[in-house]
Amino acid sequence: MNVIDHIRESHDLTRDELELILTTDNKEAVEYLRSSARAVADGVYGNKIFMRGLIELSSYCKNDCLYCGLRRSNKEAVRYRLTEEEIYECCETGYGLGFRTFVMQGGEDGWFTDERMCRIVSTVRQKYPDCAITLSLGERSRESYQALYDAGANRYLLRHETADAEHYGKLHPADMSWQHRMDCLQALKEIGYQVGCGFMVGSPFQTIDTLYADLQFIRSFQPQMVGIGPFVSTHNTPFEGYPNGTVEMTLRLLALIRLLHPRVLLPATTALGTLHPQGRELGIRFGANVVMPNLSPKMHRKDYAIYDNKICTGEEAAECRACTEHRIRKTGYETVVDRGDFKE
Ligand code: SAH
Repeated sequence: MNVIDHIRESHDLTRDELELILTTDNKEAVEYLRSSARAVADGVYGNKIFMRGLIELSSYCKNDCLYCGLRRSNKEAVRYRLTEEEIYECCETGYGLGFRTFVMQGGEDGWFTDERMCRIVSTVRQKYPDCAITLSLGERSRESYQALYDAGANRYLLRHETADAEHYGKLHPADMSWQHRMDCLQALKEIGYQVGCGFMVGSPFQTIDTLYADLQFIRSFQPQMVGIGPFVSTHNTPFEGYPNGTVEMTLRLLALIRLLHPRVLLPATTALGTLHPQGRELGIRFGANVVMPNLSPKMHRKDYAIYDNKICTGEEAAECRACTEHRIRKTGYETVVDRGDFKE
């Protein structure tokens, strides 16, 4: 308990404290971790959980990340990309459902050039001046990030995946570099985006030490958002036979991130909901304060298959929103659909 109070007060932890918290089987200690993290989240954001509308733009990807179902070597993956019209329709539906943040995510698809992507962002910006636009399109040049920002994007999600360069090398092919990913995050921050980093919990070759590096990176980078979810072993990838990350470990890390960085916007992710029927609700109980229901057109949902057994692929946007809201209310929280900016 002392350890958790110490983390909560100092916003720091030692490597041994991390190990203790991730390995303990003392239920009371875990419950104390949970209630502390939730109290910190309540103190900053009250009982409000922010909803963001997720639009999955494209399942084409030029990268070959070893964990991801959309990697270019996966010849079985079904590829689609939304047309500009479809993207605008998703936003219109989402706006009607009350969403005030649109998250546009996709594989690194060369079709979405700066010219096209800037046109999309500025069209959405003009149509919905009261909405936040979040992009999650992987690594692009600084000039590209700047142009998209100037076109009206406000936030960018780019998980760092691991803060340990050697570990990064085991999760990615040789033509991808940890340094480049870090440089992208730095550039996004300098340009003025609200930035999100993050990592998978239980990815192959992850250790207490790499996780400790992740938490220290979050402490020093001070992102506005952190996305974490369990690694989900996925067919037709080199990590097909590796075990999934666990819900338990993800929850403990969510709570720790909340204690280390109290104001962070922290989603209860779909991957967490994939490994446990109440995964997202548990995430909220452990300090998460964001959920991202899917607004993508139903016909393409199942094809944005970054990992196996992804949930919510058979629903329309309205159903997804209603279901999410219902789940959150049952947990005792209230969903809000305003922009939900980071509290400076
Ligand atoms: N191409 C974009 C978006 C990637 S998808 C980018 O590079 O940022 C968003 C996140 O899904 C990734 O950052 C990764 O952490 C996660 N992800 C990919 N494959 C996964 C898997 N098998 N299990 C769990 N999460 C996965």
